[in-house]
Formats: sequence, structure tokens, C-alpha cells
Amino acid sequence: MSRLPAPADLPTVADTFGRPLRSLRLSVTDRCNLRCNYCMPEEEYTWLPRETLLTFEEMDALTSLFTELGVDKVRLTGGEPLLRKDLPVLVGMLAKNARIKDLALTTNGILLAEHAQALFDAGLHRVTVSLDTLNPDRFKALTRRETHGRVLQGIEAVARTGFTGLKLDTVAIRGFNDDELADLIEYGKRIGAEVRFIEYMDVGGATDWSMEKVLSRTAILHALGQKYGSIEAVVEESSAPAQRFLLPDGTTFGIIPSTTMPFCAACDRSRLTADGMWYLCLYAKQGFDLRQPLRDGVPLEEIASLIRSVWQARKDRGAEERKALERFGTRENLIEIEKLRLDPHLEMHARGG
Ligand code: SAM
Ligand code: SF4
Ligand code: SF4
Repeated sequence: MSRLPAPADLPTVADTFGRPLRSLRLSVTDRCNLRCNYCMPEEEYTWLPRETLLTFEEMDALTSLFTELGVDKVRLTGGEPLLRKDLPVLVGMLAKNARIKDLALTTNGILLAEHAQALFDAGLHRVTVSLDTLNPDRFKALTRRETHGRVLQGIEAVARTGFTGLKLDTVAIRGFNDDELADLIEYGKRIGAEVRFIEYMDVGGATDWSMEKVLSRTAILHALGQKYGSIEAVVEESSAPAQRFLLPDGTTFGIIPSTTMPFCAACDRSRLTADGMWYLCLYAKQGFDLRQPLRDGVPLEEIASLIRSVWQARKDRGAEERKALERFGTRENLIEIEKLRLDPHLEMHARGG
């Protein structure tokens, strides 16, 4: 392949709203060792066929096309990414790509204690662990598994390994963990991690979602204000989804208000599933198959041009459209279970959070 022009030589690849192509979430598997109620509440799932899963070489090749077009942030996700055998090998391949300025992993933490060192050694920059509760019984009720202790061990292993920028992501759910917000912040403080509260989203697969369970940004700030006193917004220029706040003692935390205050206007993210389907939005019902052209030997320049033209035509603003439905009282489940069974790509656990 002749070298594609470097991003500096290119006009930024921007979509119809001027949003640049900057951030790629790369799902490495759709399998998971938890069954979080907000993501995988069903008893049975249809899995992506194994033979369709991209090899590490294919993931690396597609990621390079994205980075040649301006992507500089790559986040490995899933399903549970640490279930993908030899993940540090992929990390090592991506870490050689000098265009990636931020190479991160989102994990449920269960297998992290075993892999933290190898991931660090392979060149991973940052880790985000999902942690919704500090209470093992609640964890079991939420995830249908009894592995809470392993999650905490994983988090503590990351803190010891030398990673900086550890984050803990908590889906804030009314009636489930709304009494734990401050405890989670205090836990984060002890281990040197920033906590980010994510509003419960009505994404594909969240078949148990309802507006009543959404703990809004406003409610989170109110609860934390009562505990800590004044909370200040941190003023920063960023396309990151989290709004950051400062407590009186200098501790920071984030809120990702995807449901009540969507931030589609600044969204530079797209998602590649483990079998090479590319989605322009978390809520998108249709994706673009990048595996087939890659396996058919279509020249990489042609695949890059396809990516460029698809992004340039992008109009997605899924969370804003979902919010607009509230006016008509029709904000219900995004996709019915029968449709999810027919196309597992529609599931949050297939396209990564
Ligand atoms: N299994 C890994 C984990 O849980 O960290 C990575 C994949 S998971 C799909 C990525 C993120 O999506 C997690 O932080 C999870 O809490 C979040 N998530 C899943 N379903 C969600 C929902 N309905 N609303 C908000 N966040 C959700
Ligand atoms: Fe939970 Fe992540 Fe697994 Fe979804 S993919 S069930 S959020 S651990
Ligand atoms: Fe981006 Fe879609 Fe999420 Fe909006 S809903 S922030 S467009 S991924």
C-alpha cells in the first residue's frame, strides 16, 4: 500500500455537522463474563459467529486506516475485552502506531489483576474500569455473578502497576446505587481514580430501561451537593463526553449525561464491532461492513476512501433524537428483543459502550 497522506497534510475529515473523525472504540469480542442488567438483562443471546471475528492483524490494519484519517484516540472495549485471548498482543501492535495519542481500555475488571502488568508492558496508556457498586450483594443482583471481589482486586492491581489516569465508570441508577455516589467517590480518592457517573441509556439491548430508573445529572449533582457542599464545574475545552466537577477538597469527578443532556454536537466517536461492522453512533441501526472488503483484498486506499466518504455524510445524533421523543411521550425501548436476536450488532455489548 502506498502511504496515505498524514493527517497534517489533509483537511480534517469532518461530517455534515463539522464533527471530526477522532475517536475509535474497537470492540474485540461480544462475549461477556457478566450480565449487567442495564446491558445484558436477557437469559440468552445470539453471538457473532466466531469465524467472522477480526484477527488482531485485521484490527490493526483497519485501525491504521482510521488513524491515517485523523483518529488519535482508540479505546478497546467489548463485551468484556479481557476475554479476548492474548489481548496484550493487540495492544502491542496498536502501541506501535505513533498516531494514537490515547490508547485506552474499558473493562469490567474481573480479569484485570491477571493482565494489568502485561497490558502496561505492551504499551496500553489508560484503563477505565466499570464499577457500579461497592456492595457485593448488589453486584450479584445487578450482574448475576459473584465476582465483585475480583473487580476490586483488578482495580487495585491497575493502581499498583503504574498506570496513570485510572477512571471508574458508574452507571447511576435510581433505586439501585443512588445512595452510593459519595462512597464511590471516596473509594476513587483512596485508590487514585476519578469516578464518572454515566446516566442510564436506552441503547440497544437495554430492554429493562425506563426513564424512572435514570438518575439524572441534576439529581446526581443535587445528592453530591448535599453531602459535600458547593460543587464547581471544571471549565475545559474537550470533546470527551464527561462533564467534570470539583469538590471543595479538590477531588474531581465526571458526569456523562447522555440521556438528559446529550452531547451529540461534539461527538467525534465511532465504533467498530469485533467482526468489522462500523457504526457511526451508539444508537445507529445500520453499520458499514469493513471486514468483507478487507478479506476480499480490496486495496486499503479504497477502504480508506469509503471510510472518509461515509464519515463525511454522517448525520447521526442518536441521543438527541431519543431525547426529542420525550415531547411526544414515546421514549420507550429502542429495539424490541426479537429484532435484537436477529441482529446482535444492535446490542450495546456488541458495539462497546
Ligand atoms: N464490559 C466492559 C465494561 O463493562 O466495562 C466494556 C464494555 S461495556 C458495554 C462499556 C460501558 O458501557 C460500561 O461502562 C457500561 O457500564 C456501559 N453501559 C452498558 N450499558 C449501558 C446503559 N444501558 N447505559 C449506560 N451505560 C451503559
Ligand atoms: Fe456489563 Fe460490560 Fe458485560 Fe455489558 S459488556 S454486561 S456492561 S460487563
Ligand atoms: Fe455520538 Fe451518537 Fe452518542 Fe450522540 S448518541 S454522542 S452522535 S454516539
